[in-house]
Amino acid sequence: MPSNKDLMQRDLQVLWHPCTQMKDHETLPLIPVQRGEGIWLYDFDGKRYMDAVSSWWVNLFGHANPRINDRIKAQLDKLEHVILAGFSHEPVIELSERLVQITPPGLNRCFYADNGSSGIEVALKMSFHYWLNQGNDKKTKFVTLGNSYHGETLAALAVGDVDLYKKTYEPLLMTTYTAPSPDCYHREAGESWEDYSLRQFAAMEKLLAEKHEEISAVIVEPLIQCAGTMRMYHPIYLTKLREACDRYNVHLIADEIAVGFGRTGTLFACEQADIVPDFLCLSKGLTAGYLPLCAVLTHDRIYQGFYDEYDTLRGFLHSHSYTGNPLACAAALATLDIFEQDDVINRNQKLIQKMAAVTAPFADHPHVAEVRQTGMVLAIEMVKDKASKTPYPWQERRGLKVYQHGLDNEAMLRPLGSVVYFMPPYIITEEQIEHLAKVAWEGIEIATAD
Ligand SMILES: *Cc1c(COP(=O)(O)O)cnc(C)c1O
Repeated sequence: MPSNKDLMQRDLQVLWHPCTQMKDHETLPLIPVQRGEGIWLYDFDGKRYMDAVSSWWVNLFGHANPRINDRIKAQLDKLEHVILAGFSHEPVIELSERLVQITPPGLNRCFYADNGSSGIEVALKMSFHYWLNQGNDKKTKFVTLGNSYHGETLAALAVGDVDLYKKTYEPLLMTTYTAPSPDCYHREAGESWEDYSLRQFAAMEKLLAEKHEEISAVIVEPLIQCAGTMRMYHPIYLTKLREACDRYNVHLIADEIAVGFGRTGTLFACEQADIVPDFLCLSKGLTAGYLPLCAVLTHDRIYQGFYDEYDTLRGFLHSHSYTGNPLACAAALATLDIFEQDDVINRNQKLIQKMAAVTAPFADHPHVAEVRQTGMVLAIEMVKDKASKTPYPWQERRGLKVYQHGLDNEAMLRPLGSVVYFMPPYIITEEQIEHLAKVAWEGIEIATAD
């Protein structure tokens, strides 16, 4: 068997890795993974790593899960892929039926893309095109939240607001309106999440009041802005936003690509605000981290807005080669089976409480500004000065030190800047959560020592 070093050398000759300054790998080891089992990733030197970030938030039930493996293998022998225009197949039909059943009421149409970013493009185009089909060509703008993230393709990037990913490409992007984020990190001392998120809504209300005639849709990440360093807000904001979108005749796009499938504690984050968006984007956890797939759900009114004679050109003529791939749909069906059969959402409650309990002491750390949690996502924000919440200069890359300490201690804790977080697969045990907290504490001590 080759060693980590052998593979790293070969890799660095031919690969260009995502979201990476490749020069970092002159000093940072690249870790080739030989196999995965449950929460563990094993490298070629016999070391293992607990996948505390679910391999970028996709994995729900561990690596090489036998139940998902079996379903994909069975599908593989029947049909690997088929064009979804003019043709269909059982897995995509069953998946659509089940998604319609489990998502908020009224969402009864599924359109498929093959990754999150392209699903966002679908929702944006559908929203705009719907208004156009209504004879309204004025609605050409989208409203986004400060600190939001919706993917990396150009339109998805345009409706996001994380400078690190967006700023360089600004000249290429369509212009959008940005409302301040309801994220509660900057709330006043003594102010509740609810009060703060409500207060932040005033700016959104004002923006919609002034510009609604040119606005096609508001796009939000419900409850957690994951790529925006796991910032969180209160469901009241979504409730208010739904009411306002109705009042101003604007669509609401809920990007649950990261938070869907139990991350916020409920199956979908929108449930906590008791709202039904006009478009619901699901990806990442949809296949439990197995295969790329994205579903965009919408309701009858939107669907009927496109339903007409061919030559009116009102149809939604958008496609991706791997739309509704049968193997990906099979993985998604196995995922939904596990949710049902194992009562996952209820059983996660114990893990949610455990994560809160083991990280409670972090709040008193002199360089921790906040420990925040929404369901199965828990984030610890390191700062230079606790009282004023003065951040560490980003160039210091403090989080990287926590990451490196983790790798030496069986934990893959890939941070977001100075924010260390746990977003584990739901098969994690209480003992493993204790281990993560121990490694995170030591890592934060090292990272904040000088
Ligand atoms: C990951 C993510 C996306 C983009 O999905 P990709 O499959 O990486 O293109 C969009 N929105 C949110 C909220 C995400 O976390």
